[in-house]
Amino acid sequence: MVARIDHKECIFEPGECIVTVAARNGIEIPTLCHYEGLCGLGVCRVCVVEMDRKIVPACITKLEKPCEILTDSERVREERGMMLALLRKRAPNSEVIADLAERYHAPDLPRLTVAEDADRCILCGLCVQACKALGSSAIATVMRGTKKKIGTPYDDISNACIGCGSCAQVCPTGSISVKDENGVRKIWHKEFRLVFCKRCGALLGTEKMLKKNRITDALCSDCRGYDTAEQIHQVLSK
Ligand code: SF4
Repeated sequence: MVARIDHKECIFEPGECIVTVAARNGIEIPTLCHYEGLCGLGVCRVCVVEMDRKIVPACITKLEKPCEILTDSERVREERGMMLALLRKRAPNSEVIADLAERYHAPDLPRLTVAEDADRCILCGLCVQACKALGSSAIATVMRGTKKKIGTPYDDISNACIGCGSCAQVCPTGSISVKDENGVRKIWHKEFRLVFCKRCGALLGTEKMLKKNRITDALCSDCRGYDTAEQIHQVLSK
């Protein structure tokens, strides 16, 4: 089937999300809480577009029939600007939000106050999804109302966390702190010993990650292949 996105004919399979079809056709729609491979969340609503004159979030709206979509109309830019103005109040230290807010002329909203502990988190939940998808489920949304945040249970050290850093990697605003220093990774109030490839020195991950994945030889995939080839060569040349 065909949808017209910004007047361009774009072929889609029914069930595909607008953001995916647009990207495939070189049309950029700004998003914060969308990450390829994880389910769309539709939380930040920065990706709103006009679909047959209705405003919808592009990351979770599926295309089912031919339609007309505008990703940068005046109405879309206004809606997006308002969303970004609200997000800027929630995450005043986020550079990515500040840049987008400027680009879409987000209004100031002086009557809305910024929470004292507001930093960079927009509570999109991508980190929670990533951690769950990888089988750890070490973090969740905790507390309620204005105190709501992402954290480990009771803000304590979590035994389920393996220090993989995937939560920090998918975070759109760089809100999760992860520091690798002197062979140690610090994340979520916890320290993990880092393991490096014994042949080339490339970072393999944390001890806990390797243990979980039952990796015992401390070799990266390249060096493992090299080792195997060397062993085969030795056997064959005997
Ligand atoms: S570092 Fe811990 S909390 Fe973050 S994704 Fe990995 S296991 Fe989950």
